[in-house]
Amino acid sequence: MKVLVVNCGSSSLKYQLFDMDSKTCMARGNVERVGTAEAFIVHKPNGGDKVRRDVTAADHEQAMKYVFECLTDPKVGVISDLREISAIGHRVVHGGEKFAGSVLIDGAVMQALEECQDLAPLHNPPNIMGIEACRRLMPDLPMVGVFDTAFHQTMPREAYLYGVGYDMYAKYGVRRYGFHGTSHRYVSARAAEILGRPVEKLCMVTCHLGNGSSLAAVKHGKSIDTSMGFTPLEGLVMGTRSGDIDPAIVSFLCEKLGRSASEVVLGYLNKNSGVLGLSGGLSNDFRDLEEAAGRGHELAQLALDVFAYRVVKYIGAYAAAMGQLDAIVFTAGVGENSPEMRTRILSRLSGLGISIDPAKNNVRGSEQIISTPSSRVTVMVVPTNEEAMIARDTAEIVSSMGARS
Ligand code: ADP
Repeated sequence: MKVLVVNCGSSSLKYQLFDMDSKTCMARGNVERVGTAEAFIVHKPNGGDKVRRDVTAADHEQAMKYVFECLTDPKVGVISDLREISAIGHRVVHGGEKFAGSVLIDGAVMQALEECQDLAPLHNPPNIMGIEACRRLMPDLPMVGVFDTAFHQTMPREAYLYGVGYDMYAKYGVRRYGFHGTSHRYVSARAAEILGRPVEKLCMVTCHLGNGSSLAAVKHGKSIDTSMGFTPLEGLVMGTRSGDIDPAIVSFLCEKLGRSASEVVLGYLNKNSGVLGLSGGLSNDFRDLEEAAGRGHELAQLALDVFAYRVVKYIGAYAAAMGQLDAIVFTAGVGENSPEMRTRILSRLSGLGISIDPAKNNVRGSEQIISTPSSRVTVMVVPTNEEAMIARDTAEIVSSMGARS
């Protein structure tokens, strides 16, 4: 069975085609600057060279046509006929409380997605546009929605409710939803496999540290808490997002900066804060910050310390919440590739009986246990693979409905 995974952003469309039998990614690529005159597609067949083509993509539907063209292209394509594709799996950011797992997309699901728009006004509309484009182009193809929020739907009420009026939750859905769920689900399951222990017996903290970052407390295979909240702004200090702050800072900054609340939240706290803001505007890229910190740049050093400290605080909180901690798992851009950041975090956790083998920690982008055998908590690096997870869910759902394979 071949499954196409599609992830649409407001001006981008990323894709990967998987062969589920050989468990390989046959091709991947992305269309960038959708909706502008400078749109282009980058396509890479597995084992082949990348190709870049300028395209006319006024919308996601046109962009999708180029994806199909590239996939079936005689030179750079990997299939000869689109009918070889059995299903499409779509990444959807927000499923609200309606979706606690991946679902086959039908009219009722589309309706429910529309109703979630309010909760994710920046992310869900392009996801929906992508689904609609694919449905128009391939009306007979089964499609599956895989939600960033779904894995966290197992959180108990005490973890997902905020200390505000219950009516705000009941009327408007104000609660913690959490994001990066597909990644937390993938790495927690994979970590259990690597440890050779059933996930149902383990308590772990999964650390998805990228440009956007979140932690999850995964107890016995279920998310019981996570650091992102009503939106992806809460929790850790991120590349450009502030993470947790006193909400009164918003009205204070509105007054001081002469800006509206949405300008402060979207323009400032989402896009110009985090390690970018802390480093005095130097960079949101951790490679730049580590390099600058190494040269003695004081604010870069400070930004990295604030970032690490917040991660440490959450790990401690989640260890307490779960009452047990067997493993800490690092993933995503920073978590997978930065031994420096892992050291910065883990060196503060010796109080929990954690000890790290520096030689093993010197790993980038591959699976590895980095703690010493005597460490009370196993610490590991597990590269995330959200696309493979989306493909797997899609194949499972489509197989169970007896579709063509
Ligand atoms: P997102 O998906 O949230 O955009 P990623 O998970 O791709 O982000 O992570 C991007 C971040 O990973 C960037 O800030 C980048 O600096 C960081 N990163 C990638 N490689 C390294 C590295 N070798 N050392 C430190 N940071 C790295």
